[in-house]
Amino acid sequence: MEEITAAPLARYTTLKVGGEARRLLHPCCPDELYLALDRLKDSGEPWFVLGGGSNLLVSSAGFDGAVIRLTQMRTITNPEPGVLIAEAGVRLPHLAKYAAASGLSGLEFAVGIPGTVGGAAVMNAGAHGSCFGDIIESVTVFDIETWNLLTLTKEDMCFQYRSSRIAAGEQIVVSARLRLSEAVADNIARKTQENEEYRFRTQPVGWPNAGSTFKNPDSERSAGYLLDKAGAKQFKEGNAAVSAIHANFVINLGGATSLEITSLLRRMQESVYKQFQVRLRPEWKTLGKFSPSELAIWSGTFSVCD
Ligand SMILES: Cc1cc2nc3c(=O)[nH]c(=O)nc-3n(C[C@H](O)[C@H](O)[C@H](O)COP(=O)(O)OP(=O)(O)OC[C@H]3O[C@@H](n4cnc5c(N)ncnc54)[C@H](O)[C@@H]3O)c2cc1C
Repeated sequence: MEEITAAPLARYTTLKVGGEARRLLHPCCPDELYLALDRLKDSGEPWFVLGGGSNLLVSSAGFDGAVIRLTQMRTITNPEPGVLIAEAGVRLPHLAKYAAASGLSGLEFAVGIPGTVGGAAVMNAGAHGSCFGDIIESVTVFDIETWNLLTLTKEDMCFQYRSSRIAAGEQIVVSARLRLSEAVADNIARKTQENEEYRFRTQPVGWPNAGSTFKNPDSERSAGYLLDKAGAKQFKEGNAAVSAIHANFVINLGGATSLEITSLLRRMQESVYKQFQVRLRPEWKTLGKFSPSELAIWSGTFSVCD
């Protein structure tokens, strides 16, 4: 199994922020993943599972443990009509195009989401009115408590807006079984392309970012709308800035630190709270050490000074 010591995590996240991990492991199949977990259990070393790193803020102080990156686990099978089984590390844009080329509809929404199947199952990634939970039939996970493989049905997964029942460090998604519908290939391809083009028009493509920073607080108003109205497109902290194209996107102008990013997040959160009395909650996950005041951004317990 490929192993990199003192791995610079910024390289493995789309935001390009983060210090080093003690080691980075790249299992290429489920058996190598179980081997890695056995080794880590014996050594007692802390570990973290990484997918595409597209919804993650890593501390610039790094992570004193092992990161298991699943992007080499990328087998897709088509065991019966209308069904795809994809390993955790398969990238969504690739999977969406694979499905389109196979005449299978249901993944058109995912073409512009740069995460993996594992990350998408955990986050219930979604766009254009659809989400991963809509097409999942079941998920195979490695369960840390029982040290065994389990099959979780769609109902077991308890999908909600950008969340599922999979909690960090408790279960690892190994693969997902997706139920798609057969449709005219040209129609699927057209929809997939439209969704891809929409991204280029509405998102800061070309700048390192981690997608939407905050969850939408309710179905009436998006986080992007509230942030825009609060003037966030003007905000900048060091080398981190709010995108001028989309107020819910933070971009790394080059060499941004995690502290610059969290300072910016706090400013965004406070500006919306002051104007609308709405507490925005980050969609992103974190890895590594953050101060209590940085973590307050995630817990929603930040205080606002007038
Ligand atoms: C340009 C851009 C556009 C985006 N657009 C969207 C969008 O439209 N809709 C949307 O929902 N999201 C969007 N995102 C965010 C992101 O792509 C999704 O949340 C995606 O599902 C994250 O997957 P990942 O593999 O990158 O997860 P990571 O960022 O690697 O990890 C996220 C969390 O999932 C956990 N995890 C990852 N893999 C596994 C696994 N196999 N088992 C258990 N836990 C795991 C990690 O430990 C972490 O807690 C966008 C991001 C970018 C950069």
